[in-house]
Amino acid sequence: MRRLHVLAFGLALTLTGCGESAAPVVEPGGLALVGGQLIDGTGAAPVADSVVVIRDGRIARAGSRGATAVPAGAEVIDVTGKTIIPGLVNLHVHYREGPEEIQRQFQSQLYYGVTTARSIGSDSPERVAFLLEANAGRPDFPRAYTAGLGFSRPGGFNAAGRNAPETEEEARALVRDQIALGVHFIKMWVNAVPEPGLKIVPEIRTAIIDEAIQNGAIPVAHIDDEVDGRQLVEAGLRDLLHSTVLTFGPGAGVPVDDPDPSQEFIQMCLDNGVSFTPTLSIVQGNWHFAEHPELLDDPALRAAFDTYNPDALAGWDDPARRAGVVDAPGFEDRKAAFRQVQDFVKTMHDAGVKIALGNDAGTPNVPFGWGMHHEMELYVEAGLTPMDAIVAATATGAGQMPPVGEADFGTLEAGKVADLLVLNADPLVDIRNTLDIDQVMRLGEWVERGGVLSTP
Ligand SMILES: [Zn+2]
Repeated sequence: MRRLHVLAFGLALTLTGCGESAAPVVEPGGLALVGGQLIDGTGAAPVADSVVVIRDGRIARAGSRGATAVPAGAEVIDVTGKTIIPGLVNLHVHYREGPEEIQRQFQSQLYYGVTTARSIGSDSPERVAFLLEANAGRPDFPRAYTAGLGFSRPGGFNAAGRNAPETEEEARALVRDQIALGVHFIKMWVNAVPEPGLKIVPEIRTAIIDEAIQNGAIPVAHIDDEVDGRQLVEAGLRDLLHSTVLTFGPGAGVPVDDPDPSQEFIQMCLDNGVSFTPTLSIVQGNWHFAEHPELLDDPALRAAFDTYNPDALAGWDDPARRAGVVDAPGFEDRKAAFRQVQDFVKTMHDAGVKIALGNDAGTPNVPFGWGMHHEMELYVEAGLTPMDAIVAATATGAGQMPPVGEADFGTLEAGKVADLLVLNADPLVDIRNTLDIDQVMRLGEWVERGGVLSTP
């Protein structure tokens, strides 16, 4: 096979002649999206009048119309007036229930163009096996990475049903057990806790990180403050979830006195290539639908809720419940505290720290699929440009994934996997236009989006 390939290459050279600076050989066939605005996910300037050629599930070529030939015999689709962006990468989801429910959650994700997700800490061995199948390159499923079951302290946050080692030796053995299942990441919760002693201690965190790295898995941690962030980075962890502003647990929900990350910590993140996935939606989701019930007019959003939490939907449909949230004492404080987390996103982004996108989809008020677009809107509200938010939601997230399976996704460059969205309106004008979806492509095939509305 390899030899044949070499021979074919030699033939191509012969045919194009010696010494000529011939254009690359354009193989016939494939699919060409012509005339749309291309946002390739790298952060490069958008290409106003583009050609994107797709063949065998991959981007064969992409660029301006003048520089990108449409192959002979290609199926041409005119996408004039539309915008093409890469498939969205959600770094923080929690799938719920069994394969049947998860397939409906997958449908919601694909409907909204979320073509990759990382399930982070609540997957049983059975679910890990199911998600590994999804990661093997099925066009009917979003690509799925998993951290299996996460790590906490006995009696601590999310400890029930997860790994809660008492000793370093036990921690290392439990990490190896997870990795033996095939997980890609090892997750730990280093949360604010109601009493000292319930937080996973530094020695055990270090053992978890070391054992994960030694065995080829990537350690990831939930944090709520900078002290923990520093210790984890010193121990070798590079992927932090949430922020250094207190958002979860006791004391959360009121603005803190000193919300800004220190210059020293910012430098530490830069020096070590640390990324943050701040998950704004899980915080704001606790009230956003009370203020904006009109969002629930979207039948696909209702369907997304219905795949895992119909009770939440019923609650937000109830005017009395909505009024109870908005009129509750401390409501303005909650919003001010949330703004501090948005400021964290802006500060870290402006400093050059990698900011990816993840939203805790699958928690009560963060629906699969739709929530990813809302998280981008919250980034723009935080002060990022729409282009920054799109890069965070695509290339930056993809860069956090390990090189397993068909891992070359996240941008629309030649050779990358053809996961993409065709939008009816320009997201650079208004980031909410990412929700105005014409079509979604996964692995070079158009997604049957209608199914999400007809599923019971
Ligand atoms: Zn989470």
